[in-house]
Amino acid sequence: MTPDLTIVGAGLTGLTAAIEAAEQGRRVAVVEAHSRPGGRARTLDGPYRANTGPHAFYVDGAWWAWLERRGLTPPVVAAPRRPRLVRTGGRLTAWPDELGAAIAALPAEAPDAERFRAWLLRHVDAATAEAIIGVCFVFTFDHDPGRLAAGFVHQRLRRALAGGVRYVTGGWSTLVDLLAARAAALGVRTSTGTRLPAPPGGPAIIATGLATARRLTGDPSLAWTGARAATFDLGLRAGAPDPGWFRLTDLDDRIYVARYSLADPTLAPDGHELVQIAAACAPGERKRDAEQRVHRLLDEAWPGWRAAVEWRRGAVRTDCSGALDLPGTTWRDRPAVGRGDTLAVATDQSAAPGLLAEVGVAAAHLALQHIDGTSREPGSAREPAQPR
Ligand SMILES: Cc1cc2nc3c(=O)[nH]c(=O)nc-3n(C[C@H](O)[C@H](O)[C@H](O)COP(=O)(O)OP(=O)(O)OC[C@H]3O[C@@H](n4cnc5c(N)ncnc54)[C@H](O)[C@@H]3O)c2cc1C
Repeated sequence: MTPDLTIVGAGLTGLTAAIEAAEQGRRVAVVEAHSRPGGRARTLDGPYRANTGPHAFYVDGAWWAWLERRGLTPPVVAAPRRPRLVRTGGRLTAWPDELGAAIAALPAEAPDAERFRAWLLRHVDAATAEAIIGVCFVFTFDHDPGRLAAGFVHQRLRRALAGGVRYVTGGWSTLVDLLAARAAALGVRTSTGTRLPAPPGGPAIIATGLATARRLTGDPSLAWTGARAATFDLGLRAGAPDPGWFRLTDLDDRIYVARYSLADPTLAPDGHELVQIAAACAPGERKRDAEQRVHRLLDEAWPGWRAAVEWRRGAVRTDCSGALDLPGTTWRDRPAVGRGDTLAVATDQSAAPGLLAEVGVAAAHLALQHIDGTSREPGSAREPAQPR
């Protein structure tokens, strides 16, 4: 088969583009550097099946609807009905109802031109503003969501609290496997273990991260703001003490801890626990210092956790969790998907709507429109994606 479209990268974005292009009758080749598809959305083989990137699937979004239309939705579970613990003002407490009420009472819209913190301070007192900013770390991964565009953060806050968050049973590899199998069934040819040094000739979609796309194309304009966060995964042996909560959010110190195997027991051996943690890293903060902050929090909120640890890993991740829009910018200002007549760059930091991984998927739809010559603005793809 001679492909008429090459897609570089078999993460969620590349696989989505491959399926949609093949459905449209294109002969698609996917080239993937890793030995397996999935990109950041892989799940470790075990015994602790940690997700290496995403956890939360927002089932109220356009991507879920796209999967539903194709019979590709993975099995999902909601968070278990367990208390949610927060640390705020230096004190551990149950999720404060007054914080939820303050968020609910915020105006329905927030401006893109203003910083989130400045906008909040016009509506709530300073302590409440900082607590809300702490909540927003969970889905921005930023050390200071208060510095970001109010419109950007506020829209995500509404989504995060709307009740649409689910966890993919068996980890996100379950979804990746479904997408890869559908792509193969549609005739998409995937070559794994092949790292391209430059964009391929002919019509192509680069669906790597934005930084890799910048290196591949040599185009310095492929750059956008992202977060820096440390992630720590813990495997706890059977019989670990139960602190009672499922989620723990440190609003002061921007740390999020979830005992994911309580929601999905397949993620850990029988009776064991998988705990995954994200901690904001200010510029220059070292992994060791972030880890010490996490350990101090766990010591306070989970007596006895240390003695139960039998597996751990951790890393600092830069620009890995999607786009962040600074004041005065929106998703429309990010690097355009269309990069010339036959090249598109579709990433989770591209000019496409949505939240977290949804951005890459929306960019995949735009990339195909661009390649098909149907994007509304010649040479770029700046209108919202209309997934089919
Ligand atoms: C800690 C963390 C938590 C997150 N949490 C969430 C969440 O809860 N919900 C959510 O929706 N999103 C979340 N995200 C974001 C989500 O993981 C990403 O948006 C999404 O996985 C990006 O998919 P992608 O296909 O665009 O990119 P990637 O997953 O990075 O895929 C790119 C692929 O391209 C390949 N590649 C790179 N260079 C080359 C080359 N030269 N040749 C060939 N192949 C190449 C890579 O190997 C990779 O497989 C999180 C991310 C992180 C890091």
